[in-house]
This record gives sequence, C-alpha cells and structure tokens, in this order.
Amino acid sequence: MKRKVIPVILIMCLMFSYEARAKTKEPDYNITMKQDLLTLMMAYPSYITGVEKNNENVYIVMKSGKKIIYDDKKQKTFEQKLANPDLQDMLEQIYPLESIDGVVADKFDPGRMRVYELLHDVYGHSKGEIEKNLKLVAGGMQFNGQNAAAGNLNTVIKSLNELTKSNGKAGSDIYPFNGTYNYRIISGTGRLSPHAFGIAIDLNRDSRDYWQWASLEQGDKRIKGYTKEIPKVFEANNFIWGGKWIHFDILHYEYRPEIIIKAKYFGNKDEKFDNWWGKVPISDENIKSFIDTIEKNL
Ligand SMILES: [Zn+2]
Repeated sequence: MKRKVIPVILIMCLMFSYEARAKTKEPDYNITMKQDLLTLMMAYPSYITGVEKNNENVYIVMKSGKKIIYDDKKQKTFEQKLANPDLQDMLEQIYPLESIDGVVADKFDPGRMRVYELLHDVYGHSKGEIEKNLKLVAGGMQFNGQNAAAGNLNTVIKSLNELTKSNGKAGSDIYPFNGTYNYRIISGTGRLSPHAFGIAIDLNRDSRDYWQWASLEQGDKRIKGYTKEIPKVFEANNFIWGGKWIHFDILHYEYRPEIIIKAKYFGNKDEKFDNWWGKVPISDENIKSFIDTIEKNL
C-alpha cells in the first residue's frame, strides 16, 4: 500500500507546483504601479521624460532632471497621506466621474492629495517663477500656461457660456467667478493652495460650499441642487471638482489631468484586460512610447 501512495503524492505535488507556476501573474502592486506611471506620463507628457528603478525604488524622471519617488514605502494614515503624499498615495483614491447627489463618503478626498515636488517642477518653483508662467484667460483672469492648463480653462469657459444659454440656473452657480491665481496657503495647513500655482478656479460662492463653513447636511443640500452639467464640463477638460471630496469645496475646480486620466482608464477594477495598460489608446504613438519606456525600465 505505502509503496503506491508515495509516488501518487509526489506526482500530485509536482502537478500542483506546475499549476501554481502557470497561474503566477504579475502582482497587483506592480500592475497598479505601471498604470500610475503611465497615467502620470499621459498627464504631464512634456515634463516627465522617463521612469527609473534604483535599489527597489521607482522614480519618475522629470525633464529638469529631478527624480520623484513613486512609493516611499511608509505606512500612513489618511491624514498623514494628505499632509505628505507620494505619487502612489496621490493616485490611490479613484475620482468618481459619475454625477453625485450629496457629500461623498468619509475619508474620501480624491485629488486633494498633491505631490508638491511635481507641481513645482511643472508650474514653477517660486512665486516669481509661477507668475512668469501665468497667462491671461477669458474674462481677464490669470492661469498657469504650463501643461496646457490655461488652454483647457479657456475651453471650459467657452463651454460654460454655452451651457448658460440652454440652462438658466447654471449661470447662478457659475458667475461671478471668485478667482483663479492667488499665492496663498491653505488655511490651517501650511501647504500651498493649488490657487498659488494658478491651476484652480473658484466659481460663484454659496455659504454652504466649504466644509469649514457648512455642516454635512448643508453640503448635501447644496450638492443636490447644484447644476450637474458644470462638473461634467470641467472633468471633460481634465479638471476635478472639490464637490467630490469629504472636505468639500463646492465652488472649487482644479486642473489635475492625472486624477481624471486614472479614473477614466483605470478606475473600474471589474474591467479585465489582457494587458496592464487596459483600454488606453495605444494607436497614439506617444502613449505607445510611454508604455515601452515603462516596460523597458521596470
Ligand atoms: Zn478654490
């Protein structure tokens, strides 16, 4: 009896280990990392020139020569991520592209985490440098000209003007604008506001628009009655809406192509693809070259 059982067990073990090997796929961590790096290269195509792996750390390489780490490997709470995010933390929460009808879930602030090294490298290192990059947009406002930010805001403003023609209520949610560039700190944080980079615009102000001024119930009511087409127009042009944060900022829109691109192409975990790049249009030569760069260097 024994003599027969042992070879059977041996064969089963061999079969199992073969099966296990055949089923070994790239770990989810690597797939998400590659998707995040591609997202960043698509969002800042003239500013990120490559990716690099060095001692198990992965970096994006900027045109300036600066390297920014993808994952600092630190365990952080939600609050710590807000205060000091790496690129991975910044892209972790998927921004919802669908319309919402109230304040979002707790600890949900997609796009509110910002990697300042990246913003400084793209939009300007100092107040003086940022101001040199500002361009005049429709309505005499100033917006950063780098990375097509000002051009996208111009397109948004044209679409908003069209929207007000067909939707009478939209105008009161939009006008008057409450400002774009303003070199200031986010109150209570010590961190620069995205307005300081000239990449954010505030629309008409309502007393229920900001989490520090209003209760969750008031925020809920304001979002319910808000013109749904307005965030749609901004999102179509790579802006995110502060109305989709638990720290809601309903009058605030911010140019963050990486957050929109991640949501658009890698936002749905139920969609399955053979390749990690999923449904990004690889017919685009630039995108194809970004994928090649990532495959070659990681
Ligand atoms: Zn704002």
